[in-house]
Amino acid sequence: MEVLRSILSCFSSRPRSRARAQSHRLWSSGASDKNKAMVEQLQRYGIIRSSKVAEVMDAIDRGVFVPPGGSPYSDSPMPIGYNVTISAPHMHAACLELLEKNLQPGMHALDVGSGTGYLTACFALMVGSEGRAVGVEHIPELVATSIENIKKSAAAPHLNDGSLSIHIADGREGWPELAPYDAIHVGAAAPQIPEALIEQLKPGGRMVIPVGTVFQELKVVDKKLDGSVSIRDETSVRYVPLTSKEAQLHAN
Ligand code: SAH
Repeated sequence: MEVLRSILSCFSSRPRSRARAQSHRLWSSGASDKNKAMVEQLQRYGIIRSSKVAEVMDAIDRGVFVPPGGSPYSDSPMPIGYNVTISAPHMHAACLELLEKNLQPGMHALDVGSGTGYLTACFALMVGSEGRAVGVEHIPELVATSIENIKKSAAAPHLNDGSLSIHIADGREGWPELAPYDAIHVGAAAPQIPEALIEQLKPGGRMVIPVGTVFQELKVVDKKLDGSVSIRDETSVRYVPLTSKEAQLHAN
């Protein structure tokens, strides 16, 4: 049951826009077992359009982030323990595309529910050493593993120079120390958009966040320069919940 829920989680299920998934699985691991081939597939399906996103997903080997026994290059979420999953490659790619303009060199990016650290590592390469890529995750063991993963990845220099950091905290509160953020990604579905995250968004900033319980929408939240906020639905998705540590660990 846990495996089934894990497999169902983090999926885009009802196509609507360019960030859509055409089906629950775009290809199987047999057809693409290498990181480069995975990126090329995502480009072919039109999920990756920007050369910068392709370059970064090429550089950060997903194989380093998926626990042994998983299929890192297959287009599925994979269990990472603690009742959660690493999102499928097409969801990571879609979120990087949606945030690309807000992940320019020197910008500040927050990854709430950073899990394996995969997307935080991608953010670090995009914003560079002058920027800040900040992960927040509430399971201390996942934070420790994510740091080990990042050390083995192309983002390792950013851990060393301090432009990438991962913190143990309740992500619903964001990470005020390095706010405001040009980009915020939330990797778990919130019942509603946490106020603290809207506050920590910079004018001109963008947040991508799945919202809902049974039915979830990936929302794109733009804070305009005058401070007003616009919210639109990008696509239907299925993520694990953004919740308390206790609720997550006792979810069975
Ligand atoms: N984006 C990550 C993980 C996705 S799963 C990846 O792809 O690797 C969602 C993650 O959110 C899990 O690691 C879970 O532990 C974390 N999470 C859930 N609720 C949280 C909260 N309130 N604060 C911080 N992290 C949370």
